[in-house]
Amino acid sequence: MLKDVYKEYGEYFYVPMTQGYSVAVPVSLGCSWDKCLYCDLNQGNKFKFFGLEEIENRLNILRKFYSNRRRPVEKVVMAGGNPLCLDTGILIDIIHLIREYFPQVKNISSFARADDILRKSKDELLELKNLGLGQLSVGVESGNDEILAYHNKGISREDNYRALAKLEELSIDYSTYIMLGLGGKRLSKENAIDTASLLSMVNPQVIIVVTMVVFKNAKLVERIRKGEFERLSVLDTIREERLLLENLHMKNTIFNGTHKTNALILKGKLPEQKELLLDKIDKALKKYDQRSLRNREINRWRNWSLE
Ligand code: SF4
Repeated sequence: MLKDVYKEYGEYFYVPMTQGYSVAVPVSLGCSWDKCLYCDLNQGNKFKFFGLEEIENRLNILRKFYSNRRRPVEKVVMAGGNPLCLDTGILIDIIHLIREYFPQVKNISSFARADDILRKSKDELLELKNLGLGQLSVGVESGNDEILAYHNKGISREDNYRALAKLEELSIDYSTYIMLGLGGKRLSKENAIDTASLLSMVNPQVIIVVTMVVFKNAKLVERIRKGEFERLSVLDTIREERLLLENLHMKNTIFNGTHKTNALILKGKLPEQKELLLDKIDKALKKYDQRSLRNREINRWRNWSLE
């Protein structure tokens, strides 16, 4: 029954990690930017907005599917790379539709790029918030401008900062995705320290740590083949994570390093559990050798990565 609802999303269907229990409502396909070197999340799909009629068709199927559940649907995520890029008027219509089909919904979340947030006025964001939009997942990736520019992220450190500060000013909850290994060998230290300093200036609910994976069809593959970009070893990625954590000075944030791309599974509250997490990393660094970790990674990513 649900296969038809998500039929365009291909083999890998991404929803924000913090929204695993939300009902995903297809709003758009792909991402409106689609130029990051390391990314093949869109699997060749160009950005497409499904349109209100199609969204309503799918909401109809979803309502039937979830009608037998004991608990009403309270959390919805708008599926797609960055639905927040849509005009505010359209987003308002979508949210009204979602509310019509799931009247008990309390929170509607979405992936977002910093420029999607910056393009909206404070009044527009507030209007969306008042309708239930919250818990945005923002792909910050790195706090270092050279790294962001190299990967053609189309967003600077300052953009990321201004977007996150704007969400905070409006009390809109958000989590940030950041990526270990994005600076490769040359900029590993900068990736850790600059990302930590950026995040320490704001107050995300959750920091989601992922490790860069080289997708077969990502533009980055060519750069790696030419020797221009040198990937971090698995052990060095864990060392980068340590440096990041060491330099994070958060007020009240969950550090979530449980994403399946990570060699080491870590999760804890900051600042309370910082020492505990650092200790776990140190133990792992002592226990693992490069080979055992690398074999684990190769097995895990056999289908996706270069190896
Ligand atoms: S990483 Fe995110 S912003 Fe960049 S192309 Fe992929 S989906 Fe779009």
